Amino acid sequence: MRIGFGSDIHRLVPGRPLILGGVQVGSDLGADGHSDADALTHAITDAILGALALGDIGTHFPPSDERWRNAESFVFLRFAVGEMKRLAYEIANVDSTVHLESPKLRPYIDEIRKGLADALEVGTDRVSVKAKTGEGVDAVGERLAVRAEAIVLLEKPAR
Ligand code: MG
Repeated sequence: MRIGFGSDIHRLVPGRPLILGGVQVGSDLGADGHSDADALTHAITDAILGALALGDIGTHFPPSDERWRNAESFVFLRFAVGEMKRLAYEIANVDSTVHLESPKLRPYIDEIRKGLADALEVGTDRVSVKAKTGEGVDAVGERLAVRAEAIVLLEKPAR
C-alpha cells in the first residue's frame, strides 16, 4: 500500500468561475490560476502523485506551458490515475477537505464525489469530500482564498 497527501490554495477573485472537484459552484468570487484553478482536484492529483513518489502537478504540467492555460483539471487527475494504473495500484480510498468561507458546499458535495469517483474509477463510497469554513479568520475566512487538502491510500489488488 502507498499513502499520499496533497494540498492546494488558490486566490479568490471576481470574474472567474469557482470549480471544485470538477463542479462549478455558484459564487460571486472564483479561483484564480493558470488552469481552471480547481483546488480540490489539484490536491487529490498531488496526493496520488505523492503516493507514487512521482512529484507533483507542476512537475508534469508546468504553469509556464501555455498548453495548460485554463486547462480542465480533470486532465491532470486522469494523468495521475493513469500513472497509478501503470504501476498496478488502485484507489483504496480518498479523504479530502475544502476550506471555503462561502457559499456552503453541502448542496454540491454528492455531485463532486460522483465526478471524482468516476475519474478515480472507484465507487463513491471510497471518496470523501468534506467542507469547512474559515470561521471568518485567515485567508479562507476573509474570502481571499480557497484551500483544499486530500489524503489518498493506494493498494495493489490481490491477484
Ligand atoms: Mg492548484
